[in-house]
Amino acid sequence: MTFTAADEARVLASVPTGLLIDGVWRGSSDGATLDVEDPATGSKIATVASASEADGLAALDAAHRAQRAWAKTAPRYRAEILRAAYERVIELSDDFAILMSLEMGKPFAEAKGEVLYGAEFLRWFSEEAARVAGRFATAPDGKMRLMVQKRPVGPSLFITPWNFPLAMATRKIAPAIAAGCTMVLKPAALTPLTSLLFAKVLVEVGVPAGVINVIPTAKSGPVTGPLIRDPRLRKLSFTGSTPVGRRLIADASERVLRVSMELGGNAPFLVFADADLDKAVDGAMLAKLRNMGEACTAANRMIVHSSVAEAFATRLAARMQALKVARGLEDGANIGPIIDESSRNSIHELVTDAVGKGAKVLTGGHIPPGEGYFYPPTVLTGVTRDARILQEEVFGPVAPIVTFETEDEAVELANDTEYGLVAYAFTKDLNRGLRLAETLEVGMFGLNTGIVSNPAAPFGGVKASGVGREGGLEGIEEYLETVYVGIADPFD
Ligand code: NAD
Repeated sequence: MTFTAADEARVLASVPTGLLIDGVWRGSSDGATLDVEDPATGSKIATVASASEADGLAALDAAHRAQRAWAKTAPRYRAEILRAAYERVIELSDDFAILMSLEMGKPFAEAKGEVLYGAEFLRWFSEEAARVAGRFATAPDGKMRLMVQKRPVGPSLFITPWNFPLAMATRKIAPAIAAGCTMVLKPAALTPLTSLLFAKVLVEVGVPAGVINVIPTAKSGPVTGPLIRDPRLRKLSFTGSTPVGRRLIADASERVLRVSMELGGNAPFLVFADADLDKAVDGAMLAKLRNMGEACTAANRMIVHSSVAEAFATRLAARMQALKVARGLEDGANIGPIIDESSRNSIHELVTDAVGKGAKVLTGGHIPPGEGYFYPPTVLTGVTRDARILQEEVFGPVAPIVTFETEDEAVELANDTEYGLVAYAFTKDLNRGLRLAETLEVGMFGLNTGIVSNPAAPFGGVKASGVGREGGLEGIEEYLETVYVGIADPFD
């Protein structure tokens, strides 16, 4: 698909550039703005209002004022708003995809995939809104009655990353709306446009003033800190890096604020000697290169049985080398730019470190000349155990390959990380697959597949990858409080 400058201009012109506070689009109280750039060219594509500390608190004020009435609305009413939002996002799916490609860099086809995935959370939670139930029981001694009810947790703060600008927002907003919570969304400063267009859709489909407030800002910590310390805020849901998540958990501990944390990953991708190698390579392409490797679920470490390692590496390198690295809106682009220069430099540093310690580059491994922050798909073999790339999240299109001899060794290597988001394994032995499902220390496991994300499944990690789950039957629980009502024996 080819897009013209006029297509891009039309989509950019449809995006509100203010803050959304209490149903009104407005500038920042101190007049501050932030520029958004196209990572494929490094040039500015938009300027949006940048919230001040006062704007952050005004947004929380609005959310707090709207909470009581919103919680009282009928679940079916909230369900229908979510359904309408789903329909509208699908109608606008090309516009959302163009916008995401512009501000974040991913190829149009992938951006379209994210729109459909992100929209599914709206549909899924529109269906869940009417299914929230408590329980009723007679106490074991036959006397009291035990009523357990679910209530919306209350005003929530959402802090989202730049890598999936729509889906990371809908994964939080949809269950919060379904549960009856009001919210303040602080999108990543690098990619605020998608959130702003999505907020416009929510207003259009009837989300009342104050229920959703959106405050892009260049000052994340100073603006969100006072909200986290404010007793009116009842929930913090964060998706982003583990270091920032740790800080936010520490800040939230002061008030014992409820938190959900979707943090970094360091996914192992295991290939056993009995794997279907074609399928394993297909899976690796998906698990490694989705979103240019800028995904928390990205396969970070290829752990391959020594008997198939060479064949796997050669095939993977050939497939990766054939990809077109280009601006996301260019026809046929497979790999867009990395989000910014410092991220690209960090990727290259990890590659240089691995090569310095003895790894061999099969393809890629260099910073290309020219504008934009491109980095080619890269395959490294013979990566030594002390290479930083095996411990740190590379967040780029680099596949380091290490080998193993036994299943125990593979599991040990896979678990040798502070992270525990997702693991992938390719094997034809179902018993082995089930053993891995019980021994890998992760919140999600892909067996003979390179992708696990699904709105109907609980997404989330263990260890330093976070707490809480998004999506599935579990996703709405993050926005509900359990309240127990003890009732005297009615026959007494
Ligand atoms: P990041 O932690 O730098 O930023 C995430 C968000 O936090 C942004 O909105 C940013 O502005 C904000 N932020 C940064 N410092 C803050 C502070 N002191 N106080 C409050 N907010 C602050 O992460 P990123 O670079 O945007 O995203 C990439 C990271 O996100 C990777 O580690 C990736 O694995 C992770 N991620 C995790 C999931 C998941 O579901 N587990 C999904 C996507 C991305």
